[in-house]
Amino acid sequence: MNPPLEPILKIGATASPVEHLDLATAIKVSQAVSSEFVPEKLIDTIMRTAIEQAGAERGLLIRPRGLEQRLEAEATTSGDSVIVQLRDEQAGAAALPESVLHYVLRTGESVILDDAAAQSAFADDPYIRERQTRSILCLPLIIQGQLNGVVYLENNLTHGAFAPDRTAILKLLASQAAIALENATLSQALRESEQRFRDYAETASDWYWETDADHKVTRMKDYEQLRALGRLPLTSRIGLARWDFAEDLESQPEKWELHRSMLEARQPFRDFVYPAVRFDGSLTYVKVSGKPYFDAKGNFLGYRGTGNDVDAAVRADQAEAALRQAQAELVHLARVTTLGELVASIAHEVNQPIAATVTNAQAALRWLRFDPPKLDEVQRTLERIVRNAARAGDVVQRIRNLVKKAPLRDDRVDINAAIREVVELTRSEAMKNGVLVRTELADSVPPVRGDRVELQQVILNLVINAVEATSALTEGPRELQIVTGRIEPDHALIAVRDTGPGLAPAVEENLFKAFHTTKPNGLGLGLSICRSIVESRGGRMWATANTPRGAVFQFTLPVHPEIAT
Ligand code: ADP
Repeated sequence: MNPPLEPILKIGATASPVEHLDLATAIKVSQAVSSEFVPEKLIDTIMRTAIEQAGAERGLLIRPRGLEQRLEAEATTSGDSVIVQLRDEQAGAAALPESVLHYVLRTGESVILDDAAAQSAFADDPYIRERQTRSILCLPLIIQGQLNGVVYLENNLTHGAFAPDRTAILKLLASQAAIALENATLSQALRESEQRFRDYAETASDWYWETDADHKVTRMKDYEQLRALGRLPLTSRIGLARWDFAEDLESQPEKWELHRSMLEARQPFRDFVYPAVRFDGSLTYVKVSGKPYFDAKGNFLGYRGTGNDVDAAVRADQAEAALRQAQAELVHLARVTTLGELVASIAHEVNQPIAATVTNAQAALRWLRFDPPKLDEVQRTLERIVRNAARAGDVVQRIRNLVKKAPLRDDRVDINAAIREVVELTRSEAMKNGVLVRTELADSVPPVRGDRVELQQVILNLVINAVEATSALTEGPRELQIVTGRIEPDHALIAVRDTGPGLAPAVEENLFKAFHTTKPNGLGLGLSICRSIVESRGGRMWATANTPRGAVFQFTLPVHPEIAT
């Protein structure tokens, strides 16, 4: 539907000449509109001014969003006052004559109707017919040739309400409003986008920074605050080249060389971790990422990026690596020790029959040199040689079996004797720490079944732990007592008591867990190994508080079956 333009329709060009524009009002309108930056307030001002200047009863602001025309605000008069309400709905036939809106949208020109319902090209519009609308003024908001919205005004009380001398000021308002709305929208979008990126940067990093083309830090978020907290590395000091300080410390020159060449090539870099010096001189690990930035002509201006304090994480990684290393060494040591023992026992056990064989062979030679040779003797010595060779073969076979299955020794072990040896072994260590070691070894303790060396390992561990615990004391007696006894059913009980600081409840739960340690150089393996040794022998191990203070570590072992009743 393309309505005929003349004679009823007055388009924008018919507006009054500029002379009719009241300068004072124009300035007032212009100032009111251009001093508002908050979109909601700006819309309120525009609508209020439009209603007042036009003498309209009702006004609408419609702006495009995507493909839709959205009704953003509605102003109505009530007595002397104007009420502006923000809306957010599609601009449809319920709110305004759609044919008028479409005409303005299509042509980009204003529509002024003196008596819309009676004698206009839009008289058939359902909205106009139904409400018998009289005066209508519909103005496009145009900015740089682009339609940026529409202001719709109506007055049903009088016809010809929008006289040409009023429309001049409204046109001025419309052009100012178009620019102001565009700016307000843009600056709000800009603020939002800045906030969004600030949120991203703040959640992803501890600080962010900017350097100039010489790689000197020029800008740093929360610089003074971070500096006061001692969190910033010295390398981020404003005015310093970022690598000036760290470089000297860096143990991996290749890594620095790579980093430097990336900077020189103006490449972005990501997650560069290095040890840096803090303002207080301590070392901290930081992780930085950055990318170069350029001016409009493509000149390199510097780097921008983020930084993170990764000290705790790096140190935890290092501790874990050290732990793994220590573990590996321990396993290796254990292997070497077993191997050493094995070699020694092979040498010993094989040596005996071989030595016997040599002796027998020499004897046989001697018997042969007799005239006549003593063949009976020769035969006997040869038989001995065969037996010894068989024994050597047996030994080798046994060792083979040992290597294959490595079964534990199953000896009768005298616990008291084993303990005395351990005490002897640790005497100097205990004395050095001023710890008094006493033993109370019951004669009634029966031999247990097991491996003496392994058992001594357990006791040694408990004694060393107790010595370490008590020697941490600054007052009170430093005592350690080892007690043995027999308990039912057919078990030996071994207890190691100390007068140390005892077990903190939090510690107690984890005592026997591998890698649980409260010592700076501890491995936290001792007790877990002890417990597994004891349990593999059918015993139990536990820890309780000692009275009046300290800790007691106890374990049981089944007595040797030949002794058990
Ligand atoms: P490590 O000696 O390497 O720490 P252990 O497994 O032997 O490993 O001990 C684990 C932890 O148990 C120790 O770090 C310590 O906190 C605690 N602990 C062991 N023995 C005693 C004791 N006699 N008194 C108090 N705490 C002890």
